[in-house]
Amino acid sequence: MNKHILISALQEIVGDPNVLFSQMDLTLYGYDASLEKGMPDVVVLPGSTQEVGAVVALAHHEEIPIIARGSGTNISGGTIPIRGGIVLHLSRMNRILEIDIPNRTVTVEPCVITQDLQNRLLEEGFTYAPDPASMKVSTLGGNVGENSGGPHCLKYGVTTNHVLGAEVVLHDGSIVRIGNKSQDHPGYDLIGLLVGSEGTLGVVTKIVLKILRAPEAVKTILAIYDTVEDAGNTVSAIIAEGIIPATLEMMDHLVMKAVEESVHAGYPLDAAAVLIIELDGLRNGIERQAGKIVEICRANGVREFHVAKNAAEREELWAGRRGAFGAVSRLKPSYMVCDGTVPRTRLPEVLSKVIHVGEKYHLSIGNVFHAGDGNLHPLILFDERNEKELAAAKAASSEILKICAEAGGTISGEHGIGIEKLDEMFLIFSDADLEVMRWVKRALDPKNILNPGKLIPVAHS
Ligand SMILES: Cc1cc2nc3c(=O)[nH]c(=O)nc-3n(C[C@H](O)[C@H](O)[C@H](O)COP(=O)(O)OP(=O)(O)OC[C@H]3O[C@@H](n4cnc5c(N)ncnc54)[C@H](O)[C@@H]3O)c2cc1C
Repeated sequence: MNKHILISALQEIVGDPNVLFSQMDLTLYGYDASLEKGMPDVVVLPGSTQEVGAVVALAHHEEIPIIARGSGTNISGGTIPIRGGIVLHLSRMNRILEIDIPNRTVTVEPCVITQDLQNRLLEEGFTYAPDPASMKVSTLGGNVGENSGGPHCLKYGVTTNHVLGAEVVLHDGSIVRIGNKSQDHPGYDLIGLLVGSEGTLGVVTKIVLKILRAPEAVKTILAIYDTVEDAGNTVSAIIAEGIIPATLEMMDHLVMKAVEESVHAGYPLDAAAVLIIELDGLRNGIERQAGKIVEICRANGVREFHVAKNAAEREELWAGRRGAFGAVSRLKPSYMVCDGTVPRTRLPEVLSKVIHVGEKYHLSIGNVFHAGDGNLHPLILFDERNEKELAAAKAASSEILKICAEAGGTISGEHGIGIEKLDEMFLIFSDADLEVMRWVKRALDPKNILNPGKLIPVAHS
């Protein structure tokens, strides 16, 4: 279809102001939080499920790629229009439709910001557990697309454990509802299939989520270590003791220093690593659990502790953790995050291998991660404008993911595959495994228009 005719057809569906096609707009929608770049033909901002359905039906008829987009904060190239086409930015669909306290659910449109939902629920004494560090800007549709995790997912599970139902626009524009407010559904687990599918199987236009009562008490401890191994061993020892804290996050020296210089969260500048350990639950018993954690930290060589005395101090500790990715950009213009996961008992060994990878490629690598889940985030620092450094960063990233896979882990804990990790899919899946995924994709998107080229690599030739 000629581009002018396509634009007119889209304007008919969503109205003139909601179709963007200036060079500047197209450039702005050509990147996300990854290093990749592309260029859409047109950007569309639908205001309702019916409008999404009509746009997708048009794309289906004309065989035009269609890329759903929330805030574009994914770090794997998931929203890059690598084959041009229509970027479907869902930002106008940002309403919290229903908070149903008796059934402990909330129904939202896809572009509700994760933090906005959290703030609204806290007013009712409730909470939505998954808390990606990007939650101030990420959307719930994007969280579903990537099956996002976050610090609290150690205890409460990742996004897929909190999605009960969804309204989805399929490849041909038809609209289906899967799941509802019930905890269990007969038939195939289509919600499980959808969550984490990175916009390759359908466009989510409504989401039903589980909500929980906000915890009665919270205790946040900063534990400071002189070696990364001691911090890593503490993580395994806490879980082995049968305690599941709400969060168990680790930061190494390089990241801590950058964070401290940027956020002034009170982290020590001379330590090798810190753990942020947060307990939540009933007031009764939380002190006893905290005492046990302190004992375990001492047995594993902790240097000192700080326990947040109030909500403001707690917020300060978290501001440092949440600002970590931003803070490292003080050190180098670009960074690449490797989101590998390993069994937590292998953390100390894998972390020391990561250090060797940095030495091998002459790159600084900082670590800030969900230690309790064994979900590493080595941040490889480099300058994207220097081709040699860029190539070295990509090679180092791939090598780190290989180390994770060989340690019995996997290549993504929460950031998805997008286009950045397509090659590494072969590290953890056989050709037969991947072929099953291709069957699913072909069945649900026979013309391959929904975010084509993402998530599943083409077969090895
Ligand atoms: C500083 C920083 C910190 C981060 N921390 C975390 C973290 O702690 N945990 C974590 O999991 N991630 C983290 N991320 C990654 C990212 O923020 C998450 O993946 C987030 O869920 C993406 O949300 P988004 O709205 O930006 O989605 P986008 O980037 O816009 O989209 C993500 C994917 O979902 C698809 N998609 C979006 N909306 C829909 C829809 N309505 N229907 C179907 N598919 C859709 C897109 O096509 C794309 O494939 C971080 C990113 C940054 C930059």
